[in-house]
Amino acid sequence: MAQDTSKPGKEEITCREVVEWTSAYLDEHVGEDRKQQIALHLAACAGCEAYVGQIAAVRGLVRLLPQVVDSPVESDQIRQAVTAKLRRR
Ligand SMILES: [Zn+2]
Repeated sequence: MAQDTSKPGKEEITCREVVEWTSAYLDEHVGEDRKQQIALHLAACAGCEAYVGQIAAVRGLVRLLPQVVDSPVESDQIRQAVTAKLRRR
């Protein structure tokens, strides 16, 4: 995917704005444009994703977060842990 940061009508928002909009975002009290800007920022900014993720988790709204792609390393570790557990039986 091309990284075009100068798309018309798709202004980037700052981390401060994300923090300010977190409540409204989780309550879905934001417009489609703002929602997309926040989702886009969360997908690219680990700090804000963690912050909104914490608030969302507390409020049980994690479904609103962008889907995190499973890292193959983590899946492997989980599979190995499960396999090890099963072997012990
Ligand atoms: Zn940020």
